[in-house]
Amino acid sequence: MLEIADRAADSRFVESPESAATRALQDVARLFYDRNWALGTSGNYSVVLDHSPLKLLVTASGKDKRGLTDLDFVTVDGEGRTLQAAPGAKPSAETRLHTVLAQDAGVGAVLHTHSVWNTLLSDLLAEQRVLRLSGYEMLKGLSGVTTHETTVEIAIFENTQDIPALAREVRSRIDARDPALRHAFLIRAHGLYTWGVDLAEARRHVEILEFLFEVTARKMAISSAK
Ligand SMILES: [Zn+2]
Repeated sequence: MLEIADRAADSRFVESPESAATRALQDVARLFYDRNWALGTSGNYSVVLDHSPLKLLVTASGKDKRGLTDLDFVTVDGEGRTLQAAPGAKPSAETRLHTVLAQDAGVGAVLHTHSVWNTLLSDLLAEQRVLRLSGYEMLKGLSGVTTHETTVEIAIFENTQDIPALAREVRSRIDARDPALRHAFLIRAHGLYTWGVDLAEARRHVEILEFLFEVTARKMAISSAK
């Protein structure tokens, strides 16, 4: 027993931040896959390892989210350049969105999903450029929201393959304290980006928002069928 306690106290057995973040992101990826929020190789996830200088652990491009291995991650700097990667692993094109969001000290993780409901709603409401969520108890799961008697706005951007341009637009609207980028944003017919102070909060935001997207889209469908 004493021997086990001694081993636990031995610093050689303390898990590195990279290894802990890898395991945590593998769990998140599997959960989101099982919930149909990011099937196949879709979606990407990151955890901030350091803020100054910025260093992120991010899922590598083109890896199946059903079973990410320890080799399916890369470490990148604040510009999205690879610092460390297994042979053949490279950051996805969308990594630049993760790095611009992670520039804020209050962001510890960024999660991007491609669910049925976020794809549908971001397309249906694209002309409005914003999705408004009001009156739902589940809104209280979002950081800083304490009552259902509120409206949370989620910005909708046009889809593009020019990720650096989209990243610049996102950054400038966050810098301008745009309320529609307080918790998340949508990209038309593509998916959701949300973040949190740590991975647990970012994951909770995905869970809350995906619930609210489904409620909103089902309500629209029911209302139009009446
Ligand atoms: Zn995507």
